[in-house]
Amino acid sequence: MDLPNIQTYLRPDDLENIANWGKDWAWLAGGTWLFSEPQPQLKVLVDIQHLGWSEIEVKEDYLIIGAMCPLIKLLEYSWLAEWKAIEGLKSAISALAASLKVINVATVGGNICLALSVGTLAPLMVALDASYEIWNLRGESHQVAAKDFQIGFRQTILQSGEILRRVLIPLSNLKWQVNYQRLSIAATDPALAIVVTAKNDQQIRCVIAASVAAPRLFEFKNIDFLKREYLTLLERENFIEDFRGSAKYRQEMTAILIGRTLQ
Ligand SMILES: Cc1cc2nc3c(=O)[nH]c(=O)nc-3n(C[C@H](O)[C@H](O)[C@H](O)COP(=O)(O)OP(=O)(O)OC[C@H]3O[C@@H](n4cnc5c(N)ncnc54)[C@H](O)[C@@H]3O)c2cc1C
Repeated sequence: MDLPNIQTYLRPDDLENIANWGKDWAWLAGGTWLFSEPQPQLKVLVDIQHLGWSEIEVKEDYLIIGAMCPLIKLLEYSWLAEWKAIEGLKSAISALAASLKVINVATVGGNICLALSVGTLAPLMVALDASYEIWNLRGESHQVAAKDFQIGFRQTILQSGEILRRVLIPLSNLKWQVNYQRLSIAATDPALAIVVTAKNDQQIRCVIAASVAAPRLFEFKNIDFLKREYLTLLERENFIEDFRGSAKYRQEMTAILIGRTLQ
């Protein structure tokens, strides 16, 4: 889709050359969302496609994924067999495979920063206790836990001009057993509920998403605690109510998906 309101297109070699970031500016990653619907609030697009931020690499104790890494690259990459959690990552991306065009072009950063309630990567990153490295236009960076990044539907903690540079997943967490469950009416529909669980010997992390505005993490010592407590915990959540499903329906579906992960 053309975006007729856009007046300026920037393609900087260096983020520090950007001045006067405004609220009508946006980073352009894969563009699959930005060009999918009118963006009347935007006047400036800042293209980051050429910055080379598409790395997949191991550094110190982390798997690092660049924000511009296309989703398809994560599906096709030769992962170490001992990283069992990668199955969860592949499931998360396959959930979008109904649209091949999207997964070929959409990026990890675009998916996370778009912060849809149905966002497929965010709950997985929360379950794996990933961190996000954020840069600002002064050349400073800081990290934030994935669980604290998305704070609502289309809302993140990113401040004006900040950008997600890369995702860091502790290598030890890649050995966790991960289960990704998603429910939608038709396979190509947006999810009504997503549940991701990640389990090791010390803990089990259960993340619910799509049925709530932003991913919510519950932590348990072991599976018995999860079994005992999850229905009570779900009672306290604010589930989305809209034309696609009532809050009660989404709560029930979330409980069913948690039940499936227990199996
Ligand atoms: C019809 C349709 C259905 C979809 N359904 C789903 C779905 O069910 N589940 C799901 O997970 N996704 C869904 N998506 C979203 C799809 O996954 C996104 O289009 C994609 O992830 C966005 O990635 P992109 O790289 O193309 O981002 P862009 O379209 O380029 O950008 C998306 C947003 O993120 C911002 N952004 C991008 N990169 C960064 C960065 N590094 N730092 C800060 N901000 C950044 C942009 O400014 C923009 O606001 C759907 C998209 C479409 C078009």
